[in-house]
Amino acid sequence: MQLKPEEILKKRWGYDTFKPLQKEAIEAALSGRDCLVVLPTGGGKSLCYQMPAAMGKGLVLVVSPLIALMDDQVAAAREAGLEADALHSNLKAAHRGAAWKRLAEGKTQLLYVSPERLLAGDILNEISGRLMLVAVDEAHCVSHWGHEFRPEYRRLTEALDQFPKAARMALTATATPVVQDDIRAQLGLRSPEILIGHPDRPNLIYRAFARRDQFKQVLEVARRHPGEGGIVYAQTRKDVERLAAKLKEEGVSSAPYHAGLSAEERRSAQDDFVNERLDVIVATIAFGMGIDRSNVRYVVHANTPRSVEHYQQESGRAGRDGLPAECALFFAASDLATHRYLAKKDANLTPERERAIERQLRDIGRYAVSPLCRHRLLTEHFGAPYPAQIAPAEAGVLADAAGHGCGACDVCLGETKGLSEEEALLTAKKVLSAAWRAEGRYGTGYVVNLLLGRVNDRMAGNGHDKLQVFGLLKDSGEASIRSWIDQLIVQDFLEVTEDGEYPLLRITEAGRGLCNGRGAVLLGMPVPPKVKGKKKSKALKKAAATFLQGDEELFEKLRALRRAIADKAGIPPYIIFHDSVLIEMAASKPQTLEDLSGIKGVGDKKLEKYGRLFLDIISGRP
Ligand code: ADP
Ligand code: ZN
Repeated sequence: MQLKPEEILKKRWGYDTFKPLQKEAIEAALSGRDCLVVLPTGGGKSLCYQMPAAMGKGLVLVVSPLIALMDDQVAAAREAGLEADALHSNLKAAHRGAAWKRLAEGKTQLLYVSPERLLAGDILNEISGRLMLVAVDEAHCVSHWGHEFRPEYRRLTEALDQFPKAARMALTATATPVVQDDIRAQLGLRSPEILIGHPDRPNLIYRAFARRDQFKQVLEVARRHPGEGGIVYAQTRKDVERLAAKLKEEGVSSAPYHAGLSAEERRSAQDDFVNERLDVIVATIAFGMGIDRSNVRYVVHANTPRSVEHYQQESGRAGRDGLPAECALFFAASDLATHRYLAKKDANLTPERERAIERQLRDIGRYAVSPLCRHRLLTEHFGAPYPAQIAPAEAGVLADAAGHGCGACDVCLGETKGLSEEEALLTAKKVLSAAWRAEGRYGTGYVVNLLLGRVNDRMAGNGHDKLQVFGLLKDSGEASIRSWIDQLIVQDFLEVTEDGEYPLLRITEAGRGLCNGRGAVLLGMPVPPKVKGKKKSKALKKAAATFLQGDEELFEKLRALRRAIADKAGIPPYIIFHDSVLIEMAASKPQTLEDLSGIKGVGDKKLEKYGRLFLDIISGRP
């Protein structure tokens, strides 16, 4: 007798209910209908195509650009009892042979392929008869408007058209409405069901502060998460090397990752991180596309990312397991100038693309410096209302529909204070007048000194120490003034121009308008407060309110067992059980296999394979 999807969900994956839109996506696939699925990271996209495969109605093909992830995805699907395989260029010969054999025998239920492999055309014959669904993962890669355009994705329809009978499912975590339209068109989706989840990640705590002392600020975050997994993104290789080395000096288990390292060095850093032998990776953005570690507890941007889309994607690597995690961004307007400079080096830059880049830089700048709820800013960027209509009840934090804020960002937590309307306007006018008086002939440092009333020879020579604006903000301190300048830049009241050798700070038309009483401005109190750090695993404790004294010790024992099993099997620990499963084991202390099967995330196969081992640890048997 055919089991229902709900029954399979419980049996194979150990979950009682579907996450939002999973059921709709599965039903579309089963009824042969195309669909577009946009769900945030951790939203459970893989289940949307794994379930149809598990129902035995035919073969499911998954196209993914993340070759590095495929083997882990195959391992995870097999843990749920699926006949899964992958075909890509990095496969060892023996595995490849076995995979082809299973495919020819019609055993395979779920097959992962790289776009190149699919386009090569040699698997068409093997699968065409049985294929029920083609899932295209990371579907935003098909769009020029997205942030990770891949030319080979543009050719996918050629291959898809060879299987007219199979339903198509396009999946992505981040897609603005423009990108969604592009995906539909480029992948030739036929009157698709459009399933767009709410983009908010309620379990993430967002913080955005002005950057003052890069290393100190990064270290503060790392100190809040001792022994937990974290990713630190920096802009240049030099920064990456420096931050990684200094973190190590401070006793944080960390390694660098950037394109200048050998393939071997990168692979070993990545392996160590995924297998929890290493806590922190400091990386340029080259890192992360192939990372599925579910218990990353924090992502720090030591420099500003290129766009809100990049930020959503990169910060989204935190807390995939749904437990609380932190995303901190340390902003400086100079980062945007660097991005602009690098983008302009591209000889093929069209005016259209250049405008898109300018818009992206402005948006991420606004995100970073506006004293507004960060959950709201991110959500609205992706075209959704905030708070979500459905309260994120199972998350560690609650969006407050009454408008008291999310309780999970620096603004709503009261760490960043906005200036009152009046105060903001007054302060902005002071800063703008100084820039105006400097006539756009000097850099930011000069204007800062002017406002601080710090005279130097050059300033005295110009007679600027006699100006009314001289020393106008001397009580505010340099850090605040610098941040206000950044804030005014992203709101277009000031601009930085590169005339000749030095970047010059200049007031814009809008800035002059503001001084003359036209327009409105938002300013935050930029000096970040000390966020009090807890000694140990705050996130984990919060997740398990029932945590009793001594359970942490049990949790660590269970974690050690998980690691030993994973090492032996050559798969990442999170594939065995997520942290949330171990936390619940440590809290509820199941004594029998039946008790254990009641825990969310323990399916039949895992129960059979690992149940006894974990029960032995829980009951203290050697
Ligand atoms: P995405 O690809 O959207 O980032 P994944 O497919 O990796 O998300 O799923 C994220 C996590 O959620 C995984 O650990 C997965 O096992 C879990 N998950 C998926 N579906 C459910 C569900 N219905 N109930 C609880 N957890 C689920
Ligand atoms: Zn908020």
